[in-house]
This record gives sequence, structure tokens and C-alpha cells, in this order.
Amino acid sequence: MKEFLGKSVSKGIAIGNMKYMAPKHPTVNKVTIQDTEAEIARFEAAKKEAISDLQKLYQSAVLKVGKQHAAIFDIHAMLLEDINFNNSIVEMISNQKVNAEYAVWTAGERLVGMFAGMEDDSFQAKSADIKDISERVIRILQGADASNEFGDEPVILLAEVLSPSETVQMDKENILSFVIRYGSAGSHTAILARTMEIPALVGVEFDAGDSGHLCVVDGYEGKLIVDPDEEVLKTYRSKKQADDESKSLLMELKGKENITKSGRKIRLYANIGKPEDLDSVFQNDADGIGLFRSEFLFLDKTDYPTEDEQFEAYKKVVESMDGKKVIIRTMDIGADKQVDYFHLDKEDNPALGCRAIRICLSRPEIFKTQLRAIYRASAYGNLSIMYPMIISEEEVIKIKEISRSVRDELIAEGFPIGKVEEGIMIETPAAAIISDKLAQMVDFFSIGTNDLSQYTLAIDRGNDKLDEFFDPYHPALFHLIQMVIENGHKAGIWVGICGELGADTQMTATFIKMGIDELSVAPGAVLSVRKAIRETE
Ligand code: PEP
Ligand code: MG
Repeated sequence: MKEFLGKSVSKGIAIGNMKYMAPKHPTVNKVTIQDTEAEIARFEAAKKEAISDLQKLYQSAVLKVGKQHAAIFDIHAMLLEDINFNNSIVEMISNQKVNAEYAVWTAGERLVGMFAGMEDDSFQAKSADIKDISERVIRILQGADASNEFGDEPVILLAEVLSPSETVQMDKENILSFVIRYGSAGSHTAILARTMEIPALVGVEFDAGDSGHLCVVDGYEGKLIVDPDEEVLKTYRSKKQADDESKSLLMELKGKENITKSGRKIRLYANIGKPEDLDSVFQNDADGIGLFRSEFLFLDKTDYPTEDEQFEAYKKVVESMDGKKVIIRTMDIGADKQVDYFHLDKEDNPALGCRAIRICLSRPEIFKTQLRAIYRASAYGNLSIMYPMIISEEEVIKIKEISRSVRDELIAEGFPIGKVEEGIMIETPAAAIISDKLAQMVDFFSIGTNDLSQYTLAIDRGNDKLDEFFDPYHPALFHLIQMVIENGHKAGIWVGICGELGADTQMTATFIKMGIDELSVAPGAVLSVRKAIRETE
């Protein structure tokens, strides 16, 4: 039995087998080797394993998505057999006496460079295929479970880092818990784990060699216990049962009002990233969607989602909510949410860089497509729009101009449009400080405490090394929140919180006392916040 300590970013207990997910883009070092024959044999064995993985993937994909879409795995297997690719690897190992990983990587990069430089789109796509197959072989050579695919049983996923785009592509059915070596509580991956309602730990120095072993994740104490003995297993099984029972006790609050003892009603909404999260919104009985992080529709794609694709996703959410409020936040790409096809410049400080509304205002064609999709969906329910990362009145003026022109254009084209409230996120100190002015221009404020803390305290929310300096209850933050609420109310608009602090039940009474009108939290936190509201004087 081995125990590793980390930091819990999503509570709960998970018991199951671990699966180490090798980094998608492995790091390769050049090593000089003596026995070239053995190294070539190592390469051949890894290639054989990769081909067999690809054949299995092809078979299961045929069943799930049909022959046409499954064909990519077949093509990858064929590319791996390509005689020129293979010869260049074998020659490099023999002539230069380098390790197989390095030879595969170099041969792959050469081909990637060649295809990427060609005009024709199909050759460019081929360069991505080559990268994929060489990385697959390298992962096997490095001893990782290369398939990175999931079997029938859900697993506890171990990863070095997990980007929001990788996390969002994961199927909740496959994952019992995340255990990540590098990561922070404020990261979007941690937020996604809370949305998926699965326990998650970060900062755990796990041993990747334990992949496949049974383990326990204690998302209360921040512990990973590998190969637990019978006694420990028994203790955790009963803790898990107690956990499930307290969740079902909370379920008794379903259908009850979010009202304090003195009769103040608070709107309690849920945060989602994709239409699939709606199940958990209904299970936990949220009054509406206070934050639909629309960028997640962009993250699991290889190209811009079309107006129609976006429209279908927004329509599904707004229709399913059946008249309850749905606030769609326009896409907040940038910082930790990078998407290759946006071709954003590499930045030294991406959190302070071209992110969210800044991308929308500098690339209005992307913004307009999204706004068209949102306005078209507005005909199907109660929809509002919210704009992220605002710092000035000028931005709001520009946004409203674009939004109005999109709306007018759609009306002229004959599309039905609903009544749409437009609000902004207050997540920069600048917006909080000028909130008296901004409140005159919009219908509501939603305070993004995740970014507001990051920018107020000058602490990168993704940097786990700064945890000791991070105070989620810093008086400066509360000062700004109070100011925003007062300025909003003076202008007659409602003010909510959609950052993670809104789900902190230790703060519920404080926020209510400060005058907050709405709290929007991860779906799994709705009922515990309802309980806290109902216990507030
Ligand atoms: C926030 O910053 O508090 C917020 C809700 O937005 P995100 O976490 O997606 O940046
Ligand atoms: Mg934010």
C-alpha cells in the first residue's frame, strides 16, 4: 500500500483502477545507444503494438460512429507501415546510434514539416496524421499505456497535466476521478471536475508505473492510496456510502425555494460548459443557467464551429430549460483555453493577453457568427448574453454596436428573435472600479471571482506554486465585490456571482448580507448552496 498527498480541488471518494494517460505530446531526448539491433527490435515491437491498438480502435469506432469516420484509424495504421517512414527510422538508429524515440520523432518531424509546407489542404491534414502516429509510437516506447483510450470499466485517471480541451473531450462515464501532477484549484480543469461532480486532486507525485493498480482517491483529505489493504478499502467503502447518503439527503431540497429565514429570495443558477451538463442541472434543480461557458463548444473542435452548429447547441440548452433563464457567455478563448485553429500568437503573459472579448473585438467575424447563433436561439426560450473580460466603457459601446447590427440583420432576414438581456462579467479590477459607469450601460453584472481574484491579487490562477500566497477571502476582493453590488443596485440592475467563490457555503450568508441577487455555481453545488441560503437569517 502506498500513499501520495496532493491538493483536493473537487471533493468526494473514488475507488477503482488507475489509468495513466501519457502526455499527448511526449518529450523526447536524444540518447546514444550501443546495441542498434536491439533498438531496432524495440522500435518494431512498439510499431506492432501501435498498429494493433489502431486496429482495435478502428473496430470499436466502426460500431460507434460508422465506417466512414472510423477510417482515420485504418489510415493511421497504414501510414505506420509506410516503407519510407520506416526506412528512415531504421537507418537513423543504425547509422547515428540514436534511441528509437529520437529516431521516430526526427523522422516524423521531417515528414510533418514537408507536408505542412504544401499548399494543398489534404497534405496539411496529413502532417497532423504523421504527428499523431509518431507520438503514438513514442508513447509506447516510453512505456506508457499508449492507447489513451478507455475500456469498459470507468477509471481513475492519472495525468501529468490536463488541458481544458482534453478534459472537455472526456466522457463522464469513463472517469471516476482525476489525479493530476501539475495543476491548480482555479484552473478550468479543476472547474470541469467540479462540474462533472467527480473527486479530483492536483499536485500529486504519483508513480506512473502504478497504472492499472487499484486505488482510492480521497477528495476530502487530498490523498491517493495505491493498492489499499482490505481494512483501508473497507473504511473508504463506508465513507463513500456515507457520502452518497448525504447527497441523497440534499436531494430532499429539490423543489424547495432559495429563500432566507427572513424571506429574501436568491436566484440560484448553474454553470455549464456543454449541453451534456444539462442532466446534472436538472438532477440538482437549478433555477436557470447563470454561466454557459460557450468556449467549450470551440475547444473540442479542429475548426471553428459553424453558426448552425452553435445555434443547435444554444437552442438545445435554452429549449431544455423551458423558460428558465439561460445566460450564454460569449467565448472566452485564450489564456489556458487555447485552440490551435485560432492561430493566436504565442504570448509571454497569455492571461494578460489576447483573450475573450479582446479576440471578439479584433476578429469581429468570429464574434458575429457566435452572436447570430445566440440571437437565433433566443426565439426558443429565455436567453441572455454576457460578455467576459470587460475593462472599459468603450468596449461595451463597441460590443453593443455589433450586437445591435447582428440583431437587426437577423430580423431583416426574417428570423424570429426573443427578448435578450445583455450583461457583462465583472472579472477585472478595472471593471469593478468603474462599475458605476458600466452599470448604466448593461442589464446585469455577473462577478467572475476566479479572474477577479487572479487580477486583483496578481496571482496566476493556474500556478500551483503560488497557493501559499493566495487568499480567496482577501479583503481587497470583498471590497471590490461590495462596490460592484452597490453600483449595480444604484443603477437598478441585478448583480450575481458566477465564479467558484459563489459555491463556497461559508460565504453564502456574507454574500447575501452584501446584497447579492444571484449565485451561479457548479450543478453539483446547487443543493448545498440552497441549504446554506435557507439557513441564513
Ligand atoms: C471567473 O473568472 O470567475 C469565471 C466565472 O469565468 P472563468 O472561470 O471561465 O474564467
Ligand atoms: Mg473568467
